[in-house]
Amino acid sequence: MKTFFVDHVNSNLITLSGDEHNHLKNVMRLQVGDNVKVVCGNEFNYFCTISEINKNSSVLKVDGRELNQANPKVNLTCYMALIKNDNLSLVVQKLTELGCSTFVPFESRYTVNKDKGAKSDKLSLISKQSLKQCGRSIPMQILPTQKLTNLTDMLSKHDLIIFANETEKSLSLTDALNQNSSSKNIAIIVGCEGGFEQSEIDYLVNQGAISVSLGSRILRAETASIMLSAIVLNHFKEYV
Ligand code: SAH
Repeated sequence: MKTFFVDHVNSNLITLSGDEHNHLKNVMRLQVGDNVKVVCGNEFNYFCTISEINKNSSVLKVDGRELNQANPKVNLTCYMALIKNDNLSLVVQKLTELGCSTFVPFESRYTVNKDKGAKSDKLSLISKQSLKQCGRSIPMQILPTQKLTNLTDMLSKHDLIIFANETEKSLSLTDALNQNSSSKNIAIIVGCEGGFEQSEIDYLVNQGAISVSLGSRILRAETASIMLSAIVLNHFKEYV
């Protein structure tokens, strides 16, 4: 059943407009009487019947709702240094599928194109498209771009912070996870193409981040964040 995203559902009639209406009418070519699913960022799926298709909007009647089963059970936040926009888009798409709850882009010393920041509208759109594809009803929340050294308050909320550090030689991800199996509010941190400056590594470790190695090969930043999310989520039993 096709899924559509709206900002909220507060009555038993839902109006679709803009891209979602265009998708229903011109891309999917759905008809009055067809059944569709609507999600709005809360924990429910709304099952609807199309009751009107107009030029600029369509109207759906809500027949019932059900708890969505595909939202993440583990609370994982990914702090990711700004990388090339296309790669950041890829990361947002994959982390939504994998079950990451929050995404925080940040600027660090070696960030290229600092003045541009993350294109948060584009990333939110990708996150919503990916949500519909993978069946979640609550999108991965994308926060505004932060400066690395201003993350202190946000990082203090986590009870486990795994920091992918390509210069780490002694602690592996596996060992770090095996020492931490009951954390509830988990963070991962991944750097940009240029990695981290020593003072940034020191800052993160001072915030309680556990510096880990992801193995003997240097991964691209996007590979590191996708791999790390999947392994951490699996460790905390997201996939059982
Ligand atoms: N410029 C660096 C590589 C950066 S890779 C260099 O050439 O040495 C981008 C980011 O991916 C890193 O900052 C780190 O967070 C993560 N990463 C990549 N490979 C890693 C590894 N083997 N262990 C830990 N983190 C890694």
